[in-house]
Amino acid sequence: MTLSPAPKPKKILYIEDNPSNATLVKRILQPKGYTIIIAETGLKGIDAALEHKPDLILMDINLPDMSGREVTTRLRAFEQFRDMPIVALTAQTDDKQRAMTLISGVSGFMAKPIDVASFPKRIAFYLEGGKDLPKVANPDEARRNYHKELTEHLEKRLRDLEAANSKLRQLDVIKDDFIKRTAHELRTPLTIIYGYGRLLQTAPPVHQLTQTNPEVGAYVDALVESVERLHDVINEIFTVYRLTTGQIELNLAQSNLGEIVQYALDDFKQAAQQRNVNVEFTREGWPTKLMVDFELLRLALANVIGNAIKFTPDGGKVSINHIETSDTVKIIVHDSGIGIPIEEQHRIFDSFYSFEKTDHHSTSKTAFRGGGLGLGLSICRSIIEAHGGKIHVESQGQDVEKMPGSTFHIEIPLTNRGQTQVPVATDVTPVQ
Ligand code: ADP
Repeated sequence: MTLSPAPKPKKILYIEDNPSNATLVKRILQPKGYTIIIAETGLKGIDAALEHKPDLILMDINLPDMSGREVTTRLRAFEQFRDMPIVALTAQTDDKQRAMTLISGVSGFMAKPIDVASFPKRIAFYLEGGKDLPKVANPDEARRNYHKELTEHLEKRLRDLEAANSKLRQLDVIKDDFIKRTAHELRTPLTIIYGYGRLLQTAPPVHQLTQTNPEVGAYVDALVESVERLHDVINEIFTVYRLTTGQIELNLAQSNLGEIVQYALDDFKQAAQQRNVNVEFTREGWPTKLMVDFELLRLALANVIGNAIKFTPDGGKVSINHIETSDTVKIIVHDSGIGIPIEEQHRIFDSFYSFEKTDHHSTSKTAFRGGGLGLGLSICRSIIEAHGGKIHVESQGQDVEKMPGSTFHIEIPLTNRGQTQVPVATDVTPVQ
């Protein structure tokens, strides 16, 4: 005897925000072998329908975001849901509401409260393609009412959005102002602390003290290093602030790209040497008359090169090369470091995005995996895009054992006409 395979359990999607109704339907239908999927809002319902491809949809009408009528009309617009059973399960049974529900595209109508005894039979009936739509007495009027409801709802949503947007804009102004003032207020005392720190490093009494207590020198060095780091952070915040508020203008001039890379690299030479990271770069052969903003491009490249050294372990390798085509120059910064998880790669260019754990944080910016604010690459992208270029990263993932490395590709048009102003990067949000 050959056994035929068991039929696949039918899937029912119930779009319902009331948990007790959802539980009741589950209790009645699950023992009959149905798989029940619950979605609590109209939008989640549409997503769940597309994802799970149910055999039948039970639709509450009074939902928190869209009405069940709107969800039905939306679903019917998809080819795959054109003929599937969508059954309204609702307490809205007055004539006007009911007529609108029937007009919206449902293939069945059941009134709440649910009649437990007859419910499974009705479900089986709809699943077999049954329809039991009561006649609408005045369909034209029902259609008019439904269209009015749709447009009123749309208008209300637009007005709510407009109000929320205007509030966000106000908050944005307050936030920008807060960033500017705070960074400014921090800068002044920091400059003083830094000045005294440097003084202490060379002051004869401290020097004498370090002869007998060497740790005193280390304390002062750590203090100065921390202040330098804080200073860099404040500068980064200022740069993002100026970029997002359109306050940076490109100062375009014919520049030697090799020289820019060299300058960017100089900031990290010492750190690379200390950590025995081999940096491969030849200054010759780079385009010499590129119309770019020297300082901004240096800053952009310094962020990428600094990261390459930072995320590469001691003894690793970083290389900086270029490829020139007829209309672009591509700068390729490759490292033999920890790599970047594939799922994070599109987000690392967002502001304040840093996925390294802070337990790797170090006071030295170039220590292996030393933590940062997550602003460097966002600044870099804004600058590159302002030059009409683009940046992306390639990495096979992150692995601290295998060290798969990362490669950043920065492309700048050779015939760069440039923009006079750095555009506001839409997803660059300074302080949250
Ligand atoms: P941060 O200032 O924190 O370094 P960035 O915007 O420069 O911020 O970089 C964002 C995140 O991208 C970093 O925190 C790091 O996790 C990851 N990242 C950037 N460059 C590299 C690289 N070369 N290798 C590995 N991870 C990197």
